[in-house]
Amino acid sequence: RNKVIVVGGVAGGMSFATRYRRLNQNDDIIIFEKGPYVSFANCGLPYHISGEISTRSGLLVVRETLLKERFHLDIRSNAEVISIDSNNKQVTYLKDGETLVESYDKLVLSTGAKPIVIDIKGQYNVPIFTLRNIPDLDKIMRFIKENQPKHATVIGAGYIGLEVAENLIKKGIQTTIVEKAPEVLPIVDPEMAAFIREELVLKQAQVFTGNEIQEIQGNEVLLASGDRFNTDIIVMAVGVFPDSALAKQANVETGIRGGIKVDQHYQTSVKDIYAIGDAILVKNQVSNQEALIPLASPANRQGRQLADILSGLNVTNKGSLGTSIVKVFDLSLGATGLNERQLAGKKYSVLHLTANDHASYYPNATSIYLKVIYDPETELILGAQAVGQKGVDKRIDIIATAIKAKLPVTFLQELEFTYAPPFGSAKDIVNMAGYVASNQMLGITKTIQWYDAIQMMNDDSVVFVDVRSLFESAAQGTLPNAINVDLDQIQELYTQIPKDKKVVVFCDNGIRGYNAEQFLRSEGYDVYNLDGGHNYISKML
Ligand code: FAD
Repeated sequence: RNKVIVVGGVAGGMSFATRYRRLNQNDDIIIFEKGPYVSFANCGLPYHISGEISTRSGLLVVRETLLKERFHLDIRSNAEVISIDSNNKQVTYLKDGETLVESYDKLVLSTGAKPIVIDIKGQYNVPIFTLRNIPDLDKIMRFIKENQPKHATVIGAGYIGLEVAENLIKKGIQTTIVEKAPEVLPIVDPEMAAFIREELVLKQAQVFTGNEIQEIQGNEVLLASGDRFNTDIIVMAVGVFPDSALAKQANVETGIRGGIKVDQHYQTSVKDIYAIGDAILVKNQVSNQEALIPLASPANRQGRQLADILSGLNVTNKGSLGTSIVKVFDLSLGATGLNERQLAGKKYSVLHLTANDHASYYPNATSIYLKVIYDPETELILGAQAVGQKGVDKRIDIIATAIKAKLPVTFLQELEFTYAPPFGSAKDIVNMAGYVASNQMLGITKTIQWYDAIQMMNDDSVVFVDVRSLFESAAQGTLPNAINVDLDQIQELYTQIPKDKKVVVFCDNGIRGYNAEQFLRSEGYDVYNLDGGHNYISKML
């Protein structure tokens, strides 16, 4: 009969404990949780601010009593483990003011990640909150109730920051977002994140990017840009770092930003101590490099896998992709794998598409904007990002599956999806990504990216040709100095396009541009299609 101690009773820890119990009916399982609740929904916390998740109890995924009764778990909440003695295999913990000791055969650390807190200069009494758990949420809710703030500032425009900002706005609090990076959601590429920025502004958020708080005096926030505004409450969401202090105290080896090093069986450098979840370093499955991927799905999977491993099953940690999604008002943005910033210096190809989430003739179709990055030599998909009102999750999940299965990008053409007009299109945007990648690799189409196009705008040897109708160009805007030759008249009018220049054709989404490219090339032009068309570049000008 083994005695297993788990430190941290939420995503990873509780997944471990319940699976381990199912496989080991007689072992002792003790869970230490320093907070008051185990198994709560960290991911749901922002939605209680606005009341979208209306009851606080809705945030408790599984009740402690059920876990005790059904799984015979010895749950000790409000109990913080303060040290590990790995020689004598025991932990020391604080509970109800007492210092107590418990021995273990195996120790599992699922201590999670802590919010990063940055110092802000000035004399101020605006409260600064972070959001990691239910007590943090309670503090925010109490402050809002007692003080009725009119204005909030969210520092950091990552997933948690934007979820908090949306819910503060829905609560009726005017909200300003301040992000240090040049664009919101620095985890994705800027032309994709720009859609989210537009949505935030549309929904009345004030957004400052490439900016930071210099100081606060009283209630007045002063930004590095010189902008000033008054605020009543601040929520800081500038990222997280592994909560590995306990592991370090036990001489467990750590790496990047304090992440706990584990082998493929979640074994740390110290015998019989294992670690999972946000606190560990994992292998990024695309880059094959060590990474911190603080997300719920990997934490849950790792908990289950470790239970299998400690039960003698042949399971290994294969790493993570970092597949993630965020909803910002009416838009969702999903991503998997690596972005262009992470691929800097490597050889990769990019494609951008726009298509409807379901057949355009069926009511309420909305656009999905999809970006896929792949290795043109191995054809492996390196990453994908998508934004839209509906169907983003499905597309990113499919591509994440393709990445895990190491399917070549051209194989996306072969995938067969459910189709009827309310659900999708006979040619889904994911299939189309396969078509475009195939055309790019065969040299049937030559595309240029928005950032290259912006560079070329000052180059006299390049001419930009807008192949939309004049009416569309006028309504949607066009590129500086572009000449307009409607695709439907290109066969008659193409001689207006100088042949001694490099030609970049574009439309709104890249499709008519592609048709124009084929025609002009057949007429002897050195021609390129602006990948993704005006839809993307227009956000970056
Ligand atoms: P946690 O679930 O954080 O659990 C760690 C627990 O360990 C904590 O409760 C802590 O109190 C306890 N602990 C730490 N040290 C000790 C100690 N010494 N003694 C006793 N107990 C200790 N991920 C997504 O994939 N999608 C989302 O939408 C999403 N939204 C999020 C929203 C918010 C506001 C937050 C905070 C996180 C969100 N996440 C999301 C991240 C996700 O919650 C984490 O990836 C996941 O919970 C990690 O699991 P874990 O077991 O490693 O850590």
